[in-house]
Parts: sequence; structure tokens; C-alpha cells
Amino acid sequence: MEHTRVLIVGSGPAGLTAAIYSARAQLSPIVIEGEPSSTTDQPGGQLMLTTEIENFPGFVDGLTGPELMANMRAQAERFGADLRVAKVSRLDVGERPFRAWISDEAEPTISADAVILATGAQSLMLNVPGEDRLLSHGLSTCATCDGFFFRGHDIAVIGGGDSAIEEATFLTRFANSVTIMHRRDSLRASKIMQQRAHDNEKIRFAWNTRVLEVLGDDKVSGLRVADTLSGEERTLEVTGVFIAIGHVPNTRLVTGAVDLDENGYVRTGPGSYTNIEGLFAAGDVQDHVYRQAITAAGSGCTAAIDAERWLEARDALSAR
Ligand code: NAP
Repeated sequence: MEHTRVLIVGSGPAGLTAAIYSARAQLSPIVIEGEPSSTTDQPGGQLMLTTEIENFPGFVDGLTGPELMANMRAQAERFGADLRVAKVSRLDVGERPFRAWISDEAEPTISADAVILATGAQSLMLNVPGEDRLLSHGLSTCATCDGFFFRGHDIAVIGGGDSAIEEATFLTRFANSVTIMHRRDSLRASKIMQQRAHDNEKIRFAWNTRVLEVLGDDKVSGLRVADTLSGEERTLEVTGVFIAIGHVPNTRLVTGAVDLDENGYVRTGPGSYTNIEGLFAAGDVQDHVYRQAITAAGSGCTAAIDAERWLEARDALSAR
């Protein structure tokens, strides 16, 4: 079995920042990047589905998500990180060294003194026609990231929870109008958030409404929707659609082994420490609040430093 001091699982901004820091600390990390999705040619997490990024500090004119990830990947490789396009199918964190199974191998092939889990999270999607094609072309899952591109647009936000209200309220800074489209006739969101939405004159509500299709060839031009009670169909003319029906953290590899918080995210702290010694977590797999590329990168840095110091302390102990 191949042995590494630090194994990093995931190659979004958290995983690759952890890789840059660990590699520069001479820890020769192995990064199991994951596999490309059906719509991307490289792994790299949610940013591979993002066209324009204007809020990542240091890039005055902005850049695309795939460009940012390619830069981070090249930077990690420059310092000696070993990046591999493959999936960890199983991770044993029951005893150290930890063991990882890659793809469909029957036996574990990598053992590691420390593991940084940076497997990210996924936005729940509607799974309706047009959604995959128009993602990042008028359809988004992050108002903080993309709201700025929708100045003067008429926008629909799908969902009825706190995220939907928060996204809709934020989008009124830019949009002409925001329609919150919910499948029931009452919101799940907290009362204070609901009040905020009701008080905002740019926000409208479409109750008992189900999305059937996102319309548009190369950019969003509308939504085909149905009334959940009468079944009646209609078209809503919007040029922006934000899906805010929740997220799921990618915790499958550690479910049952690691403490999760009440929302199902890996519980960390202090820093990136999990309840398992030697296992650190960074990025969206442990953050359901901020979910930004820059906060994920920051937590990847934290995890690399935590892992490095933890390894150093362990080495010092065993040398006594
Ligand atoms: P959530 O509370 O689970 O709400 C998801 C919403 O999407 C629900 O209204 C749900 O409808 C709807 N939905 C789910 N699947 C759908 C589908 N396939 N089609 C159409 N609609 C669908 O998720 P969230 O809003 O992301 O919030 C997650 C957690 O973070 C919550 O605990 C929330 O309080 C917290 N949060 C807090 C804040 C804040 O306080 N500032 C901001 C954001 C999130 P139903 O209601 O019919 O189930």
C-alpha cells in the first residue's frame, strides 16, 4: 500500500488550497481530485459550473470558475502536490494510519497519517428540462456569487426556506423584480425572514407553483410552471432563475464515523479539527453558512496548517 503523510480528498478551492500549503510545507500531499461531472471536463467542484467570478480577491477583472480552478491546480502541482483524477470510494478513519479505497478497487491502496476532507456540497436541483443546459447562463444557485450580473432583470427564486428568502432579498439590490416561487401556500422560512420579504416591494410570490421547465436556448428566457392545485400551466417571463431549495454536504465517506452538526455538515473546531484525531475538514462539507470560494480556500489553508502542526506534535512525541 502506498503511504502519504497527508491525503486530501476533493479538489475545489478548499482541497487545492490545502494542497498548496501542505506541498509548500514539504508534506508531499496526495490529492484525490474526484472525477469530472457530466457537464465538466475536469474535477474542481462547484466552481467548474460557474462562468464569471468577480469577487475572488486578486483578480481585478474577474475570471471564470474553470480558470480559477486550473490556476489553483497548477499552483499546487508547482510545489509538488500529487494530483490524481479519481474518486475515493471508501475511507476508513477508524484507526491510524487511515486507509483509502480508490475507485472500484477491492483493497485499500493509500494509507495516510492525516486526511483533509474537502469533498464540498451540492445544491439540490429541480431536475427539470433546461436546468443543466442553462446553469450559469441565467440560472444560478448562488445570489452572492452571481446577483451582480442580474442588474435590471426580472428574476424568479425557487424555494420557500430561509435560503430562498435571503437570496430573494439580496437580489432586490440588482433586480427589477423578484418572484419567489414556492410549491406550497406557506413558507418554511423563519417569521422574521418572511416579514422582511413581505415588506420588500420588489418581491412577489407565486404560491402553489411547480417548475416544469427552464426555457431558453443559450440563456434563460422564462419558466414553464404549473399550479399544484389546478394543474394549469403558464409561462413566467424571467431572465434570471435562482434555485434555493437546499444543499447536501458530501459526507458519504465519513457518515457514521464523524460528528455531524444538526444540518448534516461535518462538525469542526477549533479550526478544522474534527472529532477524529488526524482527520481535518475544510470547505463546504463543514460550512453551511458562507459557502464562498474564498471562505473555502481560507478553510483549506487552516486545515493544511492544522494538519502540519498536528503531524509535527505527533512526530515530536514519538521521537521522545
Ligand atoms: P430548507 O429550509 O430545507 O428549505 C428548502 C425549501 O425548498 C423548502 O421551502 C422546500 O419546500 C423547497 N423545496 C425542496 N425541494 C424542492 C423541490 N424539489 N422543488 C421545489 N421546492 C423544493 O433549505 P434552506 O432554505 O437552504 O435552509 C437550510 C438551513 O439553513 C435551514 O436550517 C435554514 O434555517 C438555514 N438558513 C438560515 C439562514 C438565515 O438565518 N439567515 C439563511 C439560509 C439558510 P417545502 O417547504 O414545501 O418543503
